[in-house]
This record gives sequence, C-alpha cells and structure tokens, in this order.
Amino acid sequence: MCTERMKEAITDGSKKKENARDILARFMSEQGMRKTPERFAILDVVMQMKGHHSADEILTMMPQDFPVSRGTIYSTLTLLVECGLAYNHQTEGATLYECAFGKQPHHHYICTGCHKIWDLQDSTIEQAVSKMKTPRFKKLRCSTYIYGLCNICQAKLARVKKKMEKQKEASMTREERRFARINEELAKAAEWFKEN
Ligand SMILES: [Zn+2]
Ligand SMILES: [Zn+2]
Repeated sequence: MCTERMKEAITDGSKKKENARDILARFMSEQGMRKTPERFAILDVVMQMKGHHSADEILTMMPQDFPVSRGTIYSTLTLLVECGLAYNHQTEGATLYECAFGKQPHHHYICTGCHKIWDLQDSTIEQAVSKMKTPRFKKLRCSTYIYGLCNICQAKLARVKKKMEKQKEASMTREERRFARINEELAKAAEWFKEN
C-alpha cells in the first residue's frame, strides 16, 4: 500500500535528500566518524544521479566550487554502500555505483561487450528464489546479473563475424578478437539455456 505521505516522500526530492542525510549522519555518529561537508556533498551528488556510474564519473559530477579528492570519493562511496544508501556493482570495466535510497532492490543486465549496465525489474526472479530451499540458511536478499550483449554490441559482433570470414585471426585487432571470444561464449550459452 502506498499512502499519500509515502508518495510525497518518494516524489519530493528535497525531503528524500534530507532523510538520506539523516541516515548518513546517524551511521557516521555510530562509527565515530567525522561528519565532514565533503561526505554530505558526495551523498547529494549520488542522490541526484540517474543510472550507474563509476567513482571517476562521480568525481566529475561534483560541483565546481566543491573540489574533493579521488580518495575521499572512494572512501565515501564505500561508506554509502555500507549504510545502504548506495548499491555497488562489479563489472569487468569498473565498480559502478547507484543510488539505493528510495529505490526498490532490483536486478541488472550487464553487456560484456561495452560493460554498460541496465536495471531489470522482474518479480519472477524473487518468486523463484522464495521457492528455493536453502537449508540452514536464512535468505536476506537476492541480486541477479544477466550477462550478454546489448543491441549495439550485437551489431558490432555481426560486423566482426563478417570480417572473420575473410581474414585470418592474426590480422584481427584486439577488440575484434575479444568479440570473437564473446561469440564463442554466446554459442555455449545457447546450449546452456536450452538444457536448463
Ligand atoms: Zn554493449
Ligand atoms: Zn540498478
């Protein structure tokens, strides 16, 4: 049930920000950490960002008049993950962060070609996990990553495959060889998905 007050809290950005700041302040008090303005400024940026971003990208989003070091960005992002205000995702390219506050837990697609990541809301995953028996283990949450190729990388692979027919592997670029490997993985995956 979503009450009017809950709706207000979700849609009103300023209230959302205030609450997240309270959570961070309480967590830092409990840990005996200094409540520096830099940490709150990084929280503000994370709260406003859309999608999934690396620490370096977040660094470039910081307000011009509020410079913070790379080290502070990294340590604060770790802190935000610890207190549940951010999620982190390991991709082959980098660790990506996203705002967790006011957001439902969700799953992700990751493209192994370009390393981009997208949200996936699918309750059938939760339903399947809730039916799974995990003896002597209490389930807490579940996060699924589906690896594959996005449509842009599928088109790239099709071009690489055409080239592969004409030229020897030795003359292929590193990137083309990487896509050739992804192509082999896709062939194996097709069998796996059929079997399961
Ligand atoms: Zn891609
Ligand atoms: Zn996400």
